[in-house]
Amino acid sequence: LMQLFRPLDMLGWVYRTIRQGIIDMAAMFRLIDSEVEVEDVPGAPALIVNRPTVAFENVVFGYEKDRTILHGLSFEVPAGSHVAIVGPSGAGKSTIGRLLFRFYDPQSGRILIDGQDIAQVTQASLRENIGIVPQDSVLFNDSIGYNIAYGRREAEHDNIVGAARSAAILPFIERLPDGFDTEVGERGLKLSGGEKQRVAIARTLVKDPPILLLDEATSALDSRTEQEILQTLRRVSEHRTTLAIAHRLSTIADADRILVLDQGRLAESGTHSDLLRAGGLYADMWARQAEDRPAVEPV
Ligand code: ATP
Repeated sequence: LMQLFRPLDMLGWVYRTIRQGIIDMAAMFRLIDSEVEVEDVPGAPALIVNRPTVAFENVVFGYEKDRTILHGLSFEVPAGSHVAIVGPSGAGKSTIGRLLFRFYDPQSGRILIDGQDIAQVTQASLRENIGIVPQDSVLFNDSIGYNIAYGRREAEHDNIVGAARSAAILPFIERLPDGFDTEVGERGLKLSGGEKQRVAIARTLVKDPPILLLDEATSALDSRTEQEILQTLRRVSEHRTTLAIAHRLSTIADADRILVLDQGRLAESGTHSDLLRAGGLYADMWARQAEDRPAVEPV
């Protein structure tokens, strides 16, 4: 009998993994209507992550044949470090995230995680290892507990509570009439932008991935909520390899390294103070965004 159940169990796991992957992708890239273009190579092994390093090696990519978006991009994210990608609109920042999640394959060059080419491993195992905190999270018409555990039926209640605590949404949930069983979404309780983000953070924590891809919130959060969310994200990403795609510079000034992308090429890289001293594109962008910044700035 077990022989019958094992494949079924496996199928369930594959289904949940794929579903979770699709939800993360859809949420981050709003590409739910796009076709998935990549396939696993036959007999592909699973990605095994011991040291979660990420490396782009001469990556050339365009969505269309005659329009190259990334022109031979190379960079490394050491295990456990926090790297931010900034640059003008259309520079290719989100494209980097889509390639890392293997929504597309590069035309040439390689993307490596812990030394393994992501095009050569299963997509399910790749996506298991990357947690995405998107700018706009998708919530389901279900309980808040379900929304946190989504795609992981095996998640233990303690695990869900722990994730909610780390995402700083536990006190809010405990005040709800039915706690974790409170219905949210269209038919239930409406959550604010900040609460939705915290649910997304908790969902990522249940998954407990070694690599985080943060897509900065552009949705209008008031600046206090935003500062609080940033603090939570900082805590959550502390021991994880983190790639943050940032539209505003004030949110990533404390990154270990900032990559400044311009028209699909790496224009500059360094710490916030290196880049200010260099007086290049980053320093210009920083000066231009000065008016939008709150009075207290990160150093
Ligand atoms: P922003 O800061 O405005 O979000 P970005 O740096 O994240 O910009 P990308 O979203 O990576 O930029 O887009 C880079 C380029 O690729 C843009 O010129 C964009 O028009 C193009 N592009 C993005 N997605 C697609 C797609 N699905 N098909 C064709 N071209 C695309």
